[in-house]
Amino acid sequence: MKISIIGGGIAGCSTAYYLTKDGHDVTLFERDSLASHASGFAQGGLKPVIRGTREIEYQNLSDYSIGLHRDLAKQLTGDGLNGKYTNFRLKPSVMLVKEESEAAEMIRVYESYGGDTEFDVRWLDCGELSHIDARISNDVIGGLYFGISYEVDPYKLTLSLWQAAEENGAKMVNRGVTEITVSGGRVTGVVTDDGLTEADAVVSAAGPWSAEILAGVGIEIPVYPLKGQILRLDAPGPPMKMSLWWDTDYATTKDDGLMWVGTTEEETHFDDRTNDEARDLIIGSAVAMLPYLVDAELVQQTACLRPMTPDKMPIIDAEAGPDGLVISTGGGRQGIALGPGMGIATAALVTGAESPVDVSGFTLGRFA
Ligand SMILES: Cc1cc2nc3c(=O)[nH]c(=O)nc-3n(C[C@H](O)[C@H](O)[C@H](O)COP(=O)(O)OP(=O)(O)OC[C@H]3O[C@@H](n4cnc5c(N)ncnc54)[C@H](O)[C@@H]3O)c2cc1C
Repeated sequence: MKISIIGGGIAGCSTAYYLTKDGHDVTLFERDSLASHASGFAQGGLKPVIRGTREIEYQNLSDYSIGLHRDLAKQLTGDGLNGKYTNFRLKPSVMLVKEESEAAEMIRVYESYGGDTEFDVRWLDCGELSHIDARISNDVIGGLYFGISYEVDPYKLTLSLWQAAEENGAKMVNRGVTEITVSGGRVTGVVTDDGLTEADAVVSAAGPWSAEILAGVGIEIPVYPLKGQILRLDAPGPPMKMSLWWDTDYATTKDDGLMWVGTTEEETHFDDRTNDEARDLIIGSAVAMLPYLVDAELVQQTACLRPMTPDKMPIIDAEAGPDGLVISTGGGRQGIALGPGMGIATAALVTGAESPVDVSGFTLGRFA
């Protein structure tokens, strides 16, 4: 089957990987360069969804996808954990809380896991936390610890998925798709400045730009860009052994030795520039949790756009438009974690195979 994929982020590259594994003829169109947007600049935290905080279908997709990340670490790098090409790592994460009401909620969540050891979940009070890292602020009263949580380099992961697809025969065209062509209610290909490329199926994995390309085939999709900024800091002292999260923010020492702290949620249309206001907000939030960061030096500030939907769930759908068109986007704040799951499900929708993970809750029709 001849398939055109629009978009060289994790959604497009993971779809290309799973399709070519099954021997399909894939051409991927990327107008900038592979992983040059959110998929190359994300933090790369693969922490499990805290049970009971999200819809069950979202929880299932996330759990399934994190399992695929574990498989990919072996398939793409041959050496599993500590994968040298994707920096896939076991990295415990802790959700820190400062308020008694949040602590009560986290303890309730912890108790809901019962004896389930799959994620190694524990409630840590402030004494236990300070044993783990004495640099955490005394204002923190505890944290929900996930021992089975991972981190990856999203740029390297996206490129590795693409390289594996390319080894299986996929081709990349460094052009923007301006039109999806349709005849008799079925897609027939995609158009770029170089002309028409015919295809039996088209995957739209254009991230926050999905609305732009899908409007041409009469599809209105409520995906919008939500800007996020990250600071990379040269922090004093030893690296942080866990990734720390609080509210919508986080801090973690990445493989470059720098402390990455984030983030913002900004609706600025397609403006993906960094700014000083975000820098000050992120630093203020991080120093409140980790006071020693007041002495850290800013090395780099990045910004990128998450493909976000109104209910914060992805759209994975083969029914929304002409036959042969599959939409795969809306990974939002967890698009790297969800990426392999979205890719394998999208590949199944393209070929008509049964998806190994239920994505029936992610249709575009839910917004009608
Ligand atoms: C600050 C920040 C931190 C994040 N941290 C995490 C994290 O820790 N964990 C996590 O799981 N997720 C994280 N995310 C979310 C994650 O990065 C995104 O959800 C994910 O990368 C989206 O991938 P995508 O492939 O859908 O989109 P993108 O990466 O945006 O890729 C879409 C691609 O399509 C191309 N394109 C668009 N239109 C066309 C066209 N017409 N023709 C050809 N090409 C086209 C674009 O150039 C782009 O390369 C973070 C995001 C941000 C902003």
